[in-house]
Amino acid sequence: MIFKTRFAPSPTGPLHLGHAYSALLAHDQARASGGAFYLRMDDIDQSRARPAWAEQIKDDLIWLGITWDGEIWSQHARSERYRTTLQTLWDMGLLYSCTCTRADIKAAANAPQEGAPLIGPDGLVYSGTCRGLDISAMPNDTPIRLDMRNALQHIDIKCIKLHEGDVEYSKSAQNMIAEIGDVILSRKDMAASYHLSIVVDDADQQITQVIRGEDLRDATFIHVLLQRLLELNTPSYTHHRLIRDQNGVRLAKRDDARAISKFRKDGFTPDDIRKMVGL
Ligand code: GLU
Ligand code: ZN
Repeated sequence: MIFKTRFAPSPTGPLHLGHAYSALLAHDQARASGGAFYLRMDDIDQSRARPAWAEQIKDDLIWLGITWDGEIWSQHARSERYRTTLQTLWDMGLLYSCTCTRADIKAAANAPQEGAPLIGPDGLVYSGTCRGLDISAMPNDTPIRLDMRNALQHIDIKCIKLHEGDVEYSKSAQNMIAEIGDVILSRKDMAASYHLSIVVDDADQQITQVIRGEDLRDATFIHVLLQRLLELNTPSYTHHRLIRDQNGVRLAKRDDARAISKFRKDGFTPDDIRKMVGL
């Protein structure tokens, strides 16, 4: 099996050290194994994605010495594909339409009988207010959620396991429900959420190896579940350590001084960047 990996930045801001680390790791492994390295623009959120950021990201990657194979995929051109997949899950009876506002979700999570509100990979774990509303046709103007309990039952899964090297990470069905819950798979003005679009893209590109930051490990449980439901291959996942600044703050949370373009302006070389991220 040929090694195929990818780097999928969101063109919603500059490429920073943390992104550069993911891209370099994936790129180096692909080149060392004679495999493929693809570049995809995660621009499904058209309200935040900007072509100028995509251009800047490509320019920074080239400067870093990164080359990619084939065409660059853009998610906004793939809405139909995501919609068809969403419809498949809807027809399986695993999705529902949710009309709650942010305030509704917060209020439900803070209701006295609920205990401390749980924060999952997408923020507050949804309390399920709209679950069970009987709507026959899938609406295209409301967020669509995965019914987590139903989905796990559908494939009769007790536990999802991830293997990274010798380490096993697992999440029981019970914890998938409690800690992740009914995640959003599509939004009002977005054909697919990050979870659905990335799973479909990885499958369509026959990605064998996903290399990304450990902040996404919890999301990977959702991705593996979607792969099982849709009968797609599960790639190998590697979640790398996060690059932090001198104060221990995660770089992904800040888009200021740590941008690769800033280092370039300040006269750093691609080798300096490699050293800074520990490569
Ligand atoms: N656009 C996502 C990010 O930059 C991609 C994550 C992934 O590789 O799956 O966080
Ligand atoms: Zn709702």
